[in-house]
Amino acid sequence: MPFTYDDSNIFARILRGEIPCDRVAENDHALAFRDIAPKVPVHVLVIPKGNYVSFDDFAANAGEGEIAGFMRLCAEVCAAEGVGLEQGQGFRVISNAGAHGVQEVPHFHLHIMGGAVMGPMIGARG
Ligand code: 5GP
Repeated sequence: MPFTYDDSNIFARILRGEIPCDRVAENDHALAFRDIAPKVPVHVLVIPKGNYVSFDDFAANAGEGEIAGFMRLCAEVCAAEGVGLEQGQGFRVISNAGAHGVQEVPHFHLHIMGGAVMGPMIGARG
């Protein structure tokens, strides 16, 4: 997967309103919506509105306002979905990046997953 942003990806199309999503929360810098194929009862994707390919791209190149807005929206999602430690029993956050991370959609996103015991950390394949 190249480290250049391709704005034909599915999450860019969601941000442009070309395809629908089940929106959970939004602010000036980020959007949260339900994963179309949830792996656990709570499975929300949080994406920045800016064009970043992966976690490392976002962490290196996003502005402070974008990073703060993105992280605050993650906290809002955890609370609203009842999985934050003040409300619930916890959650797992995953970010897949590139070929070894098995990233399908090349627009940076966090998976916020909860509502069930996650089990052990995932082992590497091969
Ligand atoms: P990745 O492997 O890139 O971290 O995960 C991409 C995630 O996006 C997958 O969990 C997949 O189910 C989800 N996804 C793919 N296409 C769509 C879509 O059109 N809408 C929504 N809401 N989720 C999608």
